[in-house]
Amino acid sequence: MTWSLESGRKAFLGTHRGMPDRSFWYYLLKSQGKNEELASEKLQDVLTWVPNLSNCPELDGEISRLLKDKELPKTWSDFLGSIFVGRTLETEVNADSKQRRGQAWVGISFQYTSAIPAYIAAYDRWTAAFQRRQTTQNDDPAPIMDAFAGIAISRSSWADKDTFAGTHPTLSTGPRGRNAEYYDEVVLAAEMFIIGHEYGHHLLGHTSKRAKSFRLTEHLRDELKKLGLYRLVFLRSASQTTEPVAVKNPTPLRPQNPLVLQKEELLADILGLELVGISRGSAKAIAVQRAVIGAVCALLAEADIKHHWFLGEGDTHPSTIDRIAVLLRLTKNLFHRDGEIAANSMLDRLVSQLAAFSTACLQASLHGKEPTIYPAPTWNQCVRAMETSSVALATTRANVAAVKMKGMSWEVDNGQ
Ligand SMILES: [Zn+2]
Repeated sequence: MTWSLESGRKAFLGTHRGMPDRSFWYYLLKSQGKNEELASEKLQDVLTWVPNLSNCPELDGEISRLLKDKELPKTWSDFLGSIFVGRTLETEVNADSKQRRGQAWVGISFQYTSAIPAYIAAYDRWTAAFQRRQTTQNDDPAPIMDAFAGIAISRSSWADKDTFAGTHPTLSTGPRGRNAEYYDEVVLAAEMFIIGHEYGHHLLGHTSKRAKSFRLTEHLRDELKKLGLYRLVFLRSASQTTEPVAVKNPTPLRPQNPLVLQKEELLADILGLELVGISRGSAKAIAVQRAVIGAVCALLAEADIKHHWFLGEGDTHPSTIDRIAVLLRLTKNLFHRDGEIAANSMLDRLVSQLAAFSTACLQASLHGKEPTIYPAPTWNQCVRAMETSSVALATTRANVAAVKMKGMSWEVDNGQ
């Protein structure tokens, strides 16, 4: 029931991505002509490191801790241990999962990793500004946009492949005593969510028939029914795929139908959150907290960078807002969560904060790109999202149809 890790590794590194024998960091420095670093004594351990589960020692360590965790079913652990995970030098924010002739791998672009810290830092800055606003009751919205200012600044360290260098130095400290160590851990959680999503495609049998015996789709169908999320994930209608026109007769589901693919993406997200929420030695509540912050920031980064908040016709991925809404609803209810997590009020607060932050990020992103259509985010908008713990409105200026989310599906509002 498993693949050969060795052939997955060979296929990924040797023929597929052209990085046959050494760690990703060697090939990154080589591609940028950084001869001094390549010769540096200090870096030799990392540069000459030989890929095993991954081509990055940090990911390799994290994945091997995950696979050994007793919370992970043994059958999953054996299965996932046969899939190679590689960083790639691609110039896009993306990740993928592939299987070909018994070789399976997951790829995650270094550009994606490098872009995420700015969103995690924005979350901290927005939270600090929100708390100040609650104390002072000062409705000046300027601090909201200010919280997102670091994203544009950070682009210099990741947007250009020839120079990209990872986390921007201004992002390694933040309010409330945040330091580089904290940010590294949350970025790793974000990466593990992305990898977990791609593992999810393998586990759910989207890449081959091999995993069908896990019967995870059936299992998730039952779980989601209990949580009232069955319709959103399994009965996607065409009205959820376009902005903002509703379609009366949803297209019937068939393989390769965008609606089926969107369902698969949501299920992979659920598996991703499940896998990254496994504690790997830390306290369970802290593991879940990092998992959900990382997951939400990873999704916000992708949507903001690709300017893909709403769905176009034929999109294979659900809207980011739907994806975040599902993850927030599941934070305390996934199938390996225990009673202690379900009763944890800190996680309730976190979910509300992330819903409000996502709303602010969506509005700030739309405003930044189309200021004539979308006004800047307001505190009122953030408070509404916080109170309902749901990612709320994309508000448009008057006389332009607004798109709002009621329950969890998009509908048209005439911008009153
Ligand atoms: Zn996917």
